Amino acid sequence: MRILVIEDEKKIADFIKRGLKEEGYAVDLAIDGENGLFLAKTNDYDLILLDLMLPKIDGITVCKMLREEKNPSPIIMLTAKDALKDKVTGLDAGADDYLTKPFAFEELLARIRAILRKKGERQATKLEIDDLSLDLYTHKVTRSGKEIELTSKEYTLLEYLMRNAGKVVTRTMISEHVWDIDFDTFTNVIDVYINYLRNKIDSGAKKKLIQTVRGRGYILKG
Ligand code: CA
Repeated sequence: MRILVIEDEKKIADFIKRGLKEEGYAVDLAIDGENGLFLAKTNDYDLILLDLMLPKIDGITVCKMLREEKNPSPIIMLTAKDALKDKVTGLDAGADDYLTKPFAFEELLARIRAILRKKGERQATKLEIDDLSLDLYTHKVTRSGKEIELTSKEYTLLEYLMRNAGKVVTRTMISEHVWDIDFDTFTNVIDVYINYLRNKIDSGAKKKLIQTVRGRGYILKG
């Protein structure tokens, strides 16, 4: 899952980015509304965290402009003060949810999970393909009931493949949803990570769940 954070307060922005990366999300950061709008238009984000008071273009305007262009990314508005007016304005502008600063990181994570859940499988807390299971809350992954230890990047990649199970995902799609903007498209890092996953998920199993689709990408299917 790839998230765009548009926030000009460096301390808060760094705190959010670091925390989300630790949870396995790919995170891009914009420090003003103009750059945020540009990134939101050029990349396909699973979620946008949008501060209200921003240099160049304010958060409400960014939100309105994205919605006018039918940008489908869910938006959580970050408001500095607990003002009812700001929340209403934010929701009216097309935000899906809001969070008042200062907030506990756990609450931010819970809101993000709730939004991503709404976007994908409703109410699902687990993704299951064949005997492979991934718990979206605990991040526990098992195959045939046996727990598999994954790094946060491997987890994010597997989650993306499982959310798109049965569909071919290209390397471009993977890079856009699993890696951040610093991703170097000329490396074979995706293939390397797919191999890591295969070793952990499929090696020794009778049925191989991760398959290569030549010239196109990968597919995970049961
Ligand atoms: Ca601000």
